[in-house]
Formats: sequence, C-alpha cells, structure tokens
Amino acid sequence: MPRKRDAIRAGKVGLGTWLLVAVLLTLIVGSMVLVSERARRDADIARDAQVKVERLRTASQQFRLLSVDGVNAVLAKQKSSKEVAREAFPRGTELFDEMNSLVREVRSLAPGPEADAVSRRMNGLYLAALGFYQAIQAGRYDFGRTSSQIFERSQVLNGILDQLDKDVSALSAVQEEQAREANDRATLAIIVGSVAGAVALLIMALLLGRLRRRSQLAESIRDLERRSEERIRALVEHAGDVVVVIAPEDDTISWVPSSVERMFGVDPERLVGRPIWEAIHPDDAGVVRAGLERCSTGHSRDLISARCRHRNGSWIWVEAVAEDRTGDPAVEGLLLSVRDVSERKRLEDRLRHQAYHDSLTGLANRALLENRVETALEIAASAEHSVAVLYLDLDDFKTINDSLGHLAGDEMLRAVGGRVASVLRPGDLASRPGGDEFAVLLREVDDERAALAVAERLLSVLKPEFLMAGRRLTISASVGMVVDQGNSTVAEVMRNVDLAMYAAKEQGSGQVRLFEEGLHRRAVDRLELGGELHRAVDQDELFLEYQPIMDLAAGRVAGMEALVRWQHPARGRLAPDQFISLAEQNGMIIGLGTWVLREACTQAVALNAGRNGDSMYVSVNVSSRQLEDSAFPSEVARVLEETGIEPARLVLELTESMLVEDRVTTMAQLLRLKDLGVRLAVDDFGVGYSVLSYLQEFPIDHLKIDRSFVEKIHTDAERAQLVEGVIGLADRLQLRVVAEGIEHAEQASALRLMGAQYGQGDLFSEPVTAAEVAALADAARPPAD
Ligand code: C2E
Ligand code: MG
Ligand code: MG
Repeated sequence: MPRKRDAIRAGKVGLGTWLLVAVLLTLIVGSMVLVSERARRDADIARDAQVKVERLRTASQQFRLLSVDGVNAVLAKQKSSKEVAREAFPRGTELFDEMNSLVREVRSLAPGPEADAVSRRMNGLYLAALGFYQAIQAGRYDFGRTSSQIFERSQVLNGILDQLDKDVSALSAVQEEQAREANDRATLAIIVGSVAGAVALLIMALLLGRLRRRSQLAESIRDLERRSEERIRALVEHAGDVVVVIAPEDDTISWVPSSVERMFGVDPERLVGRPIWEAIHPDDAGVVRAGLERCSTGHSRDLISARCRHRNGSWIWVEAVAEDRTGDPAVEGLLLSVRDVSERKRLEDRLRHQAYHDSLTGLANRALLENRVETALEIAASAEHSVAVLYLDLDDFKTINDSLGHLAGDEMLRAVGGRVASVLRPGDLASRPGGDEFAVLLREVDDERAALAVAERLLSVLKPEFLMAGRRLTISASVGMVVDQGNSTVAEVMRNVDLAMYAAKEQGSGQVRLFEEGLHRRAVDRLELGGELHRAVDQDELFLEYQPIMDLAAGRVAGMEALVRWQHPARGRLAPDQFISLAEQNGMIIGLGTWVLREACTQAVALNAGRNGDSMYVSVNVSSRQLEDSAFPSEVARVLEETGIEPARLVLELTESMLVEDRVTTMAQLLRLKDLGVRLAVDDFGVGYSVLSYLQEFPIDHLKIDRSFVEKIHTDAERAQLVEGVIGLADRLQLRVVAEGIEHAEQASALRLMGAQYGQGDLFSEPVTAAEVAALADAARPPAD
C-alpha cells in the first residue's frame, strides 16, 4: 500500500544541517580545548624553565659569592690560597654542575637563542672558573703577583658571571614572555571553546529536542501507519472485501492483495497484468464496463454487480464499489472494492423462488403467474399475437384428498403438475395458483383455436391413470380459457378465466370453456341471486317437485325424490343447479335444507295418509354443509316429530364425497341419524372417486347409481358389466339399488335383470307435484284383484 513519508523525509534534511553545524562546533570546541591545553602546557614549560633559570641565577650568585669569599679570604690572609682552593673547589664544581644541568634542562624546555647564549656563556664560565682555580691553586700567602693574578682571574670570572646574569635575565624575560603568551592563548582558547561549546550545547539541546519531537512524530506516524496498515490489512485480508486496482488505460489488473486467492482461488501474481475482462462473466461485461466508465467520469461509489470466475470453474457473484484514484500516486488507477455476495445472491434466489413458486409442485405460484401475465399482456398490446391463460380445476380432487389422505393428494398434485408442464412450449408458464387449480400462460397464440388445442392437450395428458399409493386413479379437469390481445388488465384476465373455469365445471367434468362476456353477466347474476335467495324462503318462492322412484320389479311407485325449485319473481323458474351451490356458499343451505326436509315430510305424510298401507318413502337431498352441522340430526328429529312421518319412510341422500371427508365425524353423525330410524342413501354413485369400503363401513341403506352409468347401459357392454358388478356388491352388502336417469325401457329392463330394485327417470316421470306423484302411484298401482 502507498505510504506517505514526505514529512519525515523533509525532517531528515533539516536534521542533517543541524547535525553538521553541531559537529563543526564540536570540532571547534575540541580544537579550542586542545589549543588551550597546549598553551597551558607551553605556559607550564615556560614557567618551569623560568624556575630553572631563577635557580641558575641563584647558583650563579652562589658561584660568584664563592669566588668573592675565596678572594677576600686570601686577600685578608685568613686562609691560604691553597686552603681556599681546596675548600672552594668541591663546592664550585658542585655549583657548576648544577648550573650546567639547569642550563641543559632550560635548553631542552625552552630552546632558543637566549638559552643557547646562556649555554655558550657557561663554556666561558668554565674556562674563567678554571683559570681562577688554577690561580688560587698556584697562589701563596704572599701577595704580590700571586694575589694580583687571583684577583685578575676573579675579575674575569665575575665578568663572565655578570655576562651570565644578563643572559639568564634575558632568558628569564623570554621565558616569562612565553609563559604569558601561552597563558593568554590558553585563556582565549578556553573562552572560544566555552562559547563554541555553549553554542554547540545549545544547538545540541535544540537538536535533541527536535530529534525527540521528530522521533515522537515518526513514532506516532509509524504507529498510525502500523495501525492503518493493520486496519487495511485486516480490512483487505479479513473483512471479505478485496481491493483491486485497475489500470484505466488498458483495463488490466495492476494490484491485488493476497486475499484475492481466498475469494477467487487464483494466485494473486497470476492476476496482475491480466485484463479484468478475463475474470468477468461475458454477460456482465457490459454492466462492469458501464460502471467503470461512470467511475472514470467522476460518478464514484457506484455499485457494480457481476459474476466473476472462480478457479474451480464456477461463477461467483460479486459487488464492487469503484473509485477513481488515478490522481493518487500511491494508487494510480481505479480502485475496486470487491465483495463476494454469492451467498446473499443464493439466499435471494431461494427467497425469490420461494416467493414466486409453489413449494409442492415447484411450478410458478399465483404471484409469478400474474406477474408474467401482466408482462405478456403489455407485449401483446403492441404486437400481432394474443395471450392465452388456461385455468384448470381438477374434478373431485377433494374426494382423493379425503379418501386417500393428504400425502397421496399432494403426490397427485405433483404428478398433475408434471404432466401439465410437460405439454407446454419453452416460453409458456405452468403454475399452481392454489389448491387443485393449475394455470397455464401461453404468451404468444395466434387465435382461440391455438389455445383450445393446448387445452385439449392438457385434458388428454391427464387421461392416463395415475399410480398413487398402490392404486390406479383417474382424474379429469375443467378448463377455463381466456384469449386476450393485450386490451385487458391482469386482474380482468384472471377474473375472466376464473369465470370460464366455473362455467366449464358447471357443464360437467372434463370440459373446456372459453370466456365470453355472457359469463361475466352470469357471474354478476349469481351474485345478485345470492342476495335474493335470502328472501326466497320467507316469501314462499321456493317449492318442491317430486320425482317418483319406481319399484322396477313390481312396476309401482315406491317413493319419491324431493327436488327443490325457485320461482323467481323476475327470472322465472330456477333449477337447483342455479342456486344450490350459491346457498351452500352463503350458508343459506342450512335453512333451505330444513325447509325442504319439513316440506317433503309434510307432503309425504299427507300423500301417504290417503293411501292405505301402500305408503311411499320420500327421499331428500342433503348438502355436505348440512351434514357437517352438528345440529343436523336434532333438526331431523324435530322434523320427524313435527310432521309425524314414520322415520323409515324418510331417506336422506348423501354424496360419496361427504362420506369420505371426515370419516369419524361423518360416522358419528350418520349413527345419530340412524338412531332416529331414518334411512341413508348414497347419491350419484360412480361419479366421484369411488371408495367401495365405505359402503361396508357406514350404515348405508340405498345406493343411487348415477345417470352417467345408466345412460349407456343398453349400448355399452363394458359399462353394463360395471353396473352389474356394482349391483352385485350392493346386494352382498344388503343395499338397495336405485338407478337414476332411466330414460329408456331397455335401460329399465336391463337394470331390473341385473337386480336393481328401484329406478327413477324421465321414462317413468319427470319431477312433478306431489299430487301428480300420487296420481301416478295410483295409476301404477297393480290393480287390486
Ligand atoms: P339428484 O339428487 O341426482 O337428482 C336427480 C336429478 O336428475 C334431478 O335434477 C332430476 O331432474 C334429474 N333427472 C331425473 N331423471 C332424469 C332423466 O331421466 N334424465 C335427465 N336428464 N335428468 C333426470 P334436478 O332436479 O335439476 O336436480 C339436480 C340436483 O340438484 C340434484 O341431483 C341434487 O343433487 C340437487 N338438489 C335438488 N334438490 C335439492 C335439495 O332440496 N337439496 C339439495 N341439497 N340438493 C338438491
Ligand atoms: Mg338426489
Ligand atoms: Mg342423483
């Protein structure tokens, strides 16, 4: 990473200068000390020489005294010259030697012409002293020539001694001068040295202070750098971000940290110098290029998302913040802070998938379907093609779920989902908006015929049996269909396809219905009708018709089925198909059902009252909502009591699906009803999913075989065989069989032959009034013999 040390570098230059000054000053102080030391030594030598000169002067005076004393003693005749010579000689020699050695010492201490002069004078002194000694040595006590010779010689000696004194004085003066000069030099050196030393000390002190501050600064900068490096390293190496520097001129990677290996599995050295495009997914190159360009033009801090190649061949999602640092000499490039967001992307994908997919089948859910329908409509609005939505509702799926359990139901839905998806083209979408409903979006269709072809493919792909929980099951679906050119909103398309699907369902199982405006009208009608149904019961708009139930063998009317009708003031007579499901939806079926029950029982009692012994039973349809109602058995009990109908004369018709719904509760309800003495019938047998075991399990008395079986009984041998099997089973279970929808005499006779006890249908009578049933009964009654 780039480091900034300019301040420290600038500090180093100043420090050097100051150090040089300090060194020079130290040298000056040192040399001054040396000079002063030298001067001091010179002064000491000069003083030493002076001392020796003074001692020379003293020795010379003693020498002079010795000669003077000797002469005086001789002259005063106190001593003979020989005696004087004998006494003075050792002392004289001693003094002369001392003087000689002092002169040598002085010459060695302070060589110079003055010392040389003294030395030469000493030679003269030696000769004069020798002459004087020889004169004394040769002297007698008599004066005369001898004395004058001694005197003469002593005069010579004194003259030499005087000369010596002068030379010594001159030497002494020179020595003194030298000592003084040396002293002055020493003093000056000390002063200069001290001043220089003081200045040096001052500079040193300043320097030291500055150095200390610099070192503190350097230390704190180092500390900062260390901490920032640590932080950067921590950020770069551990925070998950990898900093990549890119050379803007050729888009090559100019720097990467070692942590890049952790993210991309690639050796950092192999990345440096390579174009970044080698690492970026081709599909994302455009995004990255645009991001880098934005960054170069000053829009820094832009977030760039892209996939990068990992060494193991996979692509990892990264997010990068780009910053233009070309002007920064430490970077000189675009700085990309790259973060691995693969994990987050995966999670987002999973969440998105979860939000838009049905977890059971893996198909799209309603949200995704609507989303795609919306897009498809937008495209279709400005294109030549249309959009089609197909809505499938499985017929009687509830029965499967209830009879085989939810696990099998789920498996069935998965299998259906797989088959639905299998017939679609790649651009189309299969979805499961909920429950047993599937929807298909065809994004591009030419016309309704094309959509219809897909709808038929869907129905036919569901035809083959499903193998569920060891059983072979068949299922059909009702398909609603909308084809739109992009003029409608998604809400309108979804509502319309729903209406079409309900319309298809109303037509019976396995039907396809294309949406048309009339369906919308019908839906509105239904809504209105639902509201009007409330007042229908109170205002006596409902009435019952009865369809006679014939004893096939005896050819007489054994009973009648009560069928409700609504005489609508504006719409006229309405069939139960038009309002029963409405009543079930808005809960009115409970009240309506009780009314039907009471009315039917009342009518039956009245009808039977006029007939002696040959009474008919009345069959009343019961809705699943009624059977679920825990108060239902007591309602029935009350009606039995109020109308006075013989309980065995009342048959309650239940559908197969009701029986398999909640077996325990249903069983409890059925037992309570059976306790009342009423009989129970299974209506529309064979339409739904048939679980034969319940016939044995529940306290059923009648089995009503659906019209769809009866329909082909005389033309379809296979169907006839099936019905025969059912009748045989019912017989073994001691159930009475009622065949529904008999329209032809062949059907009636075939059924009779197969063992069916009862039959109803248009062949005998359409639903009619109670009075008409009575008339028919009378007519059909075998003539009394
Ligand atoms: P369902 O109980 O199966 O009643 C028999 C239906 O078949 C009746 O239709 C009857 O008119 C019709 N039908 C009888 N013989 C023939 C025939 O030979 N050919 C043809 N094509 N049809 C025949 P309807 O009266 O329209 O009743 C329809 C359904 O409405 C009934 O089917 C029943 O499930 C329901 N329903 C009728 N009345 C009531 C009621 O009071 N309560 C409840 N919960 N449902 C009722
Ligand atoms: Mg019925
Ligand atoms: Mg029926």
